[in-house]
Amino acid sequence: MSKHHELIVIGSGPAGFTAALYGSRANLETVVFEGQQPGGQLTITTEVENFPGFENGVQGPEMMDIFRKQAQRFGTKTFYETITKVDFSQRPFQMWSDTDKHYTADAVIISTGATARLLNTESEKKYWGFGISACATCDGFFYKNQKVFVVGGGDSALEEANYLTHFASSVSVIHRRQEFRASKIMIDRAKKNPKVDFVLDSVIEEFLGEEQNGIKRLTGLSIKNVKTGEFTRHDTDGTFIAIGHVPNSQVFEGILDMDDEGYLITKGKSTYTNIPGVFACGDVQDHVYRQAVTAAGSGCAAAIDAERWLADNK
Ligand code: NAP
Repeated sequence: MSKHHELIVIGSGPAGFTAALYGSRANLETVVFEGQQPGGQLTITTEVENFPGFENGVQGPEMMDIFRKQAQRFGTKTFYETITKVDFSQRPFQMWSDTDKHYTADAVIISTGATARLLNTESEKKYWGFGISACATCDGFFYKNQKVFVVGGGDSALEEANYLTHFASSVSVIHRRQEFRASKIMIDRAKKNPKVDFVLDSVIEEFLGEEQNGIKRLTGLSIKNVKTGEFTRHDTDGTFIAIGHVPNSQVFEGILDMDDEGYLITKGKSTYTNIPGVFACGDVQDHVYRQAVTAAGSGCAAAIDAERWLADNK
């Protein structure tokens, strides 16, 4: 049994829900497949201070609830399923979900976002979930009065570092260079925070730990100074990886054009992919801005592109 929809939106962050809002308000019968992280990356962030319209900031999960409800108010249906396979070689476009259901659509908007990048070392894999995390909002609470590290030099790393000081006794930021990629306001905030210190020009060589009665626990880090080549050992209770993201585009490999890093390629200033009728918006096609507000803007553009394309091609 397959179910047909006029417009299918794959992914449920600011881009996906904005696309759905505009699609539904354009009278397109619109469904959103929420995927493995309903609401997207903002559901694992704390306060969002830079989304226009929220003068006093808003919690990420609350903001995504508002996005979802606003789209639903105009008729968007949301499914807690993940699209795991697509066939865009024929129309209507074909899609299959993780519940083995088959769907077809006249037009598709892809807004699958991006996922945290990891260091991908053997010792990271060994202690992952046993003291290593990529989400301070999810796991920070477990490190009350403990000593933690954050890896990275971008806004995410410094934001996580500041956030973790609500719980931890100290937070050390390990960054592979002297200069930060983060914005000035984030750097200033971290530098002013008495609980935050910095280990610069340095990388984690190895995560160290122990295992007792079958339970693993991270206890330390072997850190290499990339300038001097010197190794130092640091005790730690927890380490948070905040080194950027990889686009969630694996399902579209070999089907849609993407760059070397896997970001979907859209044409010019539009949201058109290489397949007419399939559009892409948000972080899965944007490695430059990657903001909630730019994602929402591109979601709006994708819905307008889809609506106009459907008017000409349906
Ligand atoms: P990012 O800006 O790409 O920064 C990633 C950081 O991780 C860089 O400092 C990079 O080092 C480092 N890194 C990457 N791979 C590494 C590796 N294998 N080993 C060690 N270090 C590694 O990513 P992000 O911080 O997640 O931010 C992404 C976007 O979201 C940005 O546009 C940012 O402004 C935005 N953002 C905004 C806010 C906010 O405004 N509240 C909060 C979070 C994120 P190098 O610098 O040496 O390359």
